[in-house]
Amino acid sequence: MSLIAVSIAVHGADEIGGAIERAAAAVRGGAKLVEWRIDGLAEEDDALAAASQLVRRSPAPCIVTSRPVWEGGEYTGDEQKRMSLLEGLCAGDDRPRYVDVELAAYQRSMNMRQKVQLAVKHPAQPRDLDTSLILSSHDFQGRPADLIRRVEAMTNEPACAVVKIAWTARSLRDNLEAFDLLAERRKPMIALCMGPFGLMSRVLAPKFGGLLTFATDHPTEVTAPGQPTIEDLRGLYRFDRISPSTRVYGVIGWPVEHSKSPAIHNAGFEAVGHDGAYLPMPVPGGPTEYEHFKATVGAMIDHPRLNLRGASVTIPHKENLLRFVRERGGRIDPLVERIGAANTLVVGSAGALECLNTDSAAAVASLLHGMSIDNKQLPGKRIAVIGAGGVARAVVAGLSDLGATVVVFNRTAERAERLAADFNQRWTSIGAPAKVVVGKSDSLACGCFDVFINCTSIGMAGGPAPDESPLPDDVPLDDRVTVFDTVYAPAGRVGGRSPLIQEAAARGAKVITGVDMFIRQAAMQFEKWTGKPAPMEILRQSLNVQ
Ligand code: NAP
Repeated sequence: MSLIAVSIAVHGADEIGGAIERAAAAVRGGAKLVEWRIDGLAEEDDALAAASQLVRRSPAPCIVTSRPVWEGGEYTGDEQKRMSLLEGLCAGDDRPRYVDVELAAYQRSMNMRQKVQLAVKHPAQPRDLDTSLILSSHDFQGRPADLIRRVEAMTNEPACAVVKIAWTARSLRDNLEAFDLLAERRKPMIALCMGPFGLMSRVLAPKFGGLLTFATDHPTEVTAPGQPTIEDLRGLYRFDRISPSTRVYGVIGWPVEHSKSPAIHNAGFEAVGHDGAYLPMPVPGGPTEYEHFKATVGAMIDHPRLNLRGASVTIPHKENLLRFVRERGGRIDPLVERIGAANTLVVGSAGALECLNTDSAAAVASLLHGMSIDNKQLPGKRIAVIGAGGVARAVVAGLSDLGATVVVFNRTAERAERLAADFNQRWTSIGAPAKVVVGKSDSLACGCFDVFINCTSIGMAGGPAPDESPLPDDVPLDDRVTVFDTVYAPAGRVGGRSPLIQEAAARGAKVITGVDMFIRQAAMQFEKWTGKPAPMEILRQSLNVQ
């Protein structure tokens, strides 16, 4: 079992009361250890009395760390004084459970080693009250070239009870090396990757037997880059449920830090009792930069211990996923071939790969449900699709295959023409050629459409035009038409109503939001990975959507 350690920086004696309160709240929230980062406090004249108070009043067993600037901390004072403080703390009646000393400081001189050894094995104390030594090594720039040598040096030091190695991940692949270090450890170990690529190492520590993971009680109070909050660790990522058998899933894209997919899928796993953990998996690049995607996703799939079993794949990697699965000889859903992009990776227990596109089926299902019709009623419907990007392709593929007449409108005319050409006249599942044409922008207001579907990013929070609607004012909207906006995160909030939806609803049109489609595409992924029916209401609630 891995523990959650809340890390709290204390800069001076005047902060002790507040720090104890924060620690107590963190312990109530699930932290089992408190790391007192006394870098600032350690520089004060009466540091020993103040630090002793912290240890005495700590609401859970504690680690005391006074990190110098040369190892990424804030302590700028004298090294002898720093070690004397730890020694003094360990000689007191209330001793910390652990002290953390940097490998580099420990190796620097015989005198320093003796001081530390004396501190943690104080002759005046009974052995069961000994403080244990965490020897640590950090690299904030990237993976240290001598990573393995550092780990060996710490492991081989007899006084070292716990090995701690932390470095800034340059890509998701660094986490895999941290997992290997943990799996091959000869002593209790903390192996963590810092920064935006390192979250996986922090969340999955229990899967690989890490002694602990550090977390913060507040997102602005992190003591190292990339620390999650205790609330996210336990609530969003289900830290307490993660074990060696846990299967790993994630959303692969760039950027993905604000993705709602971890909230949806982890809530679903909890509801059906699936032994899985779903994480954001940032992979930089673009549709034309395949190599990084291939190397990262390949390494995760091939890793013998990770047990990656599936991923949602989003911008900019949907085409990359198709290419990857094709190159690896995996199964490609025929719809994916038609669309030219996939959003779902499935990895079988023996490593067989499959890719799907759940956007398309989800969009069709949302439309049919919103219009209260079945697919036999789609032929004869005239549908205006605005946009010609990835989502537009998925929507056009699904609707044209069921016999709807689709007219594509897009800012960049050539892209619309390419999209129409790719699907028009294709033989459809209803046994007739597909009808997909390009529309001239003034024909949007012709009054001849049953449905308008926005597949542009207009109206999306953080997008090019968050306050605008993609439909011109002269388009007639009334209770005979349906307006479907695929944008699911408008106006800064998932579940909020986009300007298009607000306008259409105000004019009496039937409306379908992107949230409905988003939940359906996630539910289809969920069912494919878990083999269980998706708990739709739980998925919906996880987005805080009314
Ligand atoms: P994409 O491939 O980048 O395509 C973006 C489309 O938006 C293109 O047609 C682009 O036109 C158009 N566009 C962008 N800015 C515009 C502007 N200022 N004025 C006019 N047109 C503009 O993106 P995508 O993957 O298709 O995603 C599009 C939207 O789908 C996103 O906003 C996202 O919210 C939504 N989405 C929803 C779901 C869901 O489950 N509900 C899933 C995925 C995506 P050009 O061709 O002229 O550049």
